[in-house]
Amino acid sequence: MRPTGKLHLGNLVGALQNWIKLQDQYESFHFVADWHMLTTGYDNTVDLHQDTWEMVADWLACGLDPKKATFFVQSRLPEHAELHLLFSMITPLGWLERVPTYKEQLANIKDHDINTYGFLGYPLLQAADILMYKANAVPVGEDQVPHVELTREVARRFNLLFGKVHGAGMAKLEGKTFQEQSAQGKAEMIHRGLASVDGIFPEPESLLTSAPRLPGIDGRKMSKSYGNAIFLTDPPDVVSKKLATMVTDPARKRRTDPGNPDICPVFDLHKIFSSQETIDRVNRECRTAEIGCLDCKKLAAGHLNAFLASIQERRKPYEQNPRKVWDVLEEGTAKARAVAQTTMAEVRAAVRLT
Ligand code: SF4
Repeated sequence: MRPTGKLHLGNLVGALQNWIKLQDQYESFHFVADWHMLTTGYDNTVDLHQDTWEMVADWLACGLDPKKATFFVQSRLPEHAELHLLFSMITPLGWLERVPTYKEQLANIKDHDINTYGFLGYPLLQAADILMYKANAVPVGEDQVPHVELTREVARRFNLLFGKVHGAGMAKLEGKTFQEQSAQGKAEMIHRGLASVDGIFPEPESLLTSAPRLPGIDGRKMSKSYGNAIFLTDPPDVVSKKLATMVTDPARKRRTDPGNPDICPVFDLHKIFSSQETIDRVNRECRTAEIGCLDCKKLAAGHLNAFLASIQERRKPYEQNPRKVWDVLEEGTAKARAVAQTTMAEVRAAVRLT
């Protein structure tokens, strides 16, 4: 996760709740992607340090557990940069240029220049982040699936170039070593069933996360950059005020007009944070105009504030002793470093950089 500071409900519902579930099912690694932050935000690093702290404090407050999962800071592990560099040697430019998010963001981000080498290469840096831990699975939303696909292609290419080939086809190489065969030659032999490759990297799968729709107070997707977010740290009065300005069913102009909760962003919040009883009541009484939007929003604020209270309570010890967050990161970074160093020793040996 890029260190963007305090997290909002969209981050919680879209990613964090899923990570918290996965930490009981997998050996998990989560990192502060500060180098990734630089690929688009290189011109403003003033808040990077504080934003890292705020984000990781929110991870902890929400229930991501450093005893179950490893948290680390990307830039503290130069091994990631080294693997990224080695991958950049073998990755055709076209693979990066056709990544959909690259084209989209290049077209959409106009307020600063991201026509840079670092921005083009960021999916490859992600490939290094993933493959460093020989990940079998990466939890992603649909927009990130092409990045995992690129990671699989990079792993395959690296394995073909530098993995050990063995099998019946060995005799056909006329005295040459497998390292001297082109990747294409190896691919053909594997395709014909004459050889198999014993590669360093597994090909990871996307673990698709189906997150419920979570609109911001203006009805668009909740995002810090749209200024429409409700933060996990917002106190009750701020949450109530934000909800009071939230857009509703646009066709419901007067209190006496019946509404349609199916198209109302406030109802989307109810569905996630309110009790079943409240959801059923709003669903019924909105359609008959028995409940007004103001009362409906008050109900939503009540449930949401009760939900946030427990997160804010768990955050307090970190706010009282900020060092605790850095300690968690320090410990996790040491654990991640041990894995990264082992992988890089294998990688250097395979590429013959020893
Ligand atoms: S009553 Fe609630 S669900 Fe219905 S339109 Fe108003 S805010 Fe939306």
